[in-house]
Amino acid sequence: MGTKKREVIWGGRIMGAKMRAETARQDAKKAVRAEAEAWSIRMEGYGGPAQPSPTIGQCLNGGYGWLKIECCRCKTRASLPLNAIRRPRDTPIWKLESSFRYRSCGTRRYKPPVRMIKLTEQREITPYRWVHPDEER
Ligand SMILES: [Zn+2]
Repeated sequence: MGTKKREVIWGGRIMGAKMRAETARQDAKKAVRAEAEAWSIRMEGYGGPAQPSPTIGQCLNGGYGWLKIECCRCKTRASLPLNAIRRPRDTPIWKLESSFRYRSCGTRRYKPPVRMIKLTEQREITPYRWVHPDEER
């Protein structure tokens, strides 16, 4: 079997397998994205439940880099970049909710809770004076 013929046979098979691998990767990414989107729609439309939720890594892989949150007391909203949160990427995002706090709200001792509104692909609001979950411990 000549080099040329071998290339036609094996090269073609390798190419086909590589294309299938790529398609599978894209499908997996689509699935992750759809999961994150479904969670986001549930939060925005029904206000929860927040559990179960995708992880930080799944949101980022799905193209959702921002989490929109709202202070339960003054209703100030902010978009937080998920890639700036220094938590393991496999942390489900519902676990973050209890640690977000709006800095200029409440008293020194009491900071009102924050609720998650939805995931977004782009920053919608400038993050400003929000405490990240990893800052306070
Ligand atoms: Zn507030």
